[in-house]
Amino acid sequence: MGNRGLQRLADAGRAAGGLVTKRKGVFGLGEVAEMILSGLLCQVCGTYMDDFAEPGYPRTCEDCADEK
Ligand SMILES: [Zn+2]
Repeated sequence: MGNRGLQRLADAGRAAGGLVTKRKGVFGLGEVAEMILSGLLCQVCGTYMDDFAEPGYPRTCEDCADEK
């Protein structure tokens, strides 16, 4: 994906009132939902999982797991 694709993704994210992250910029809610479902993001707080893996199912990060 080139700069034009990234720019479009960022614009879509801002239009949707998207989530801002320090690492990857701005994403729309659709992208965030997909990343949560794939296990890349915590399903509770939406932060990146420590291993940046995508096991294919929703996961909870250590911080959120500790609050139970
Ligand atoms: Zn979390």
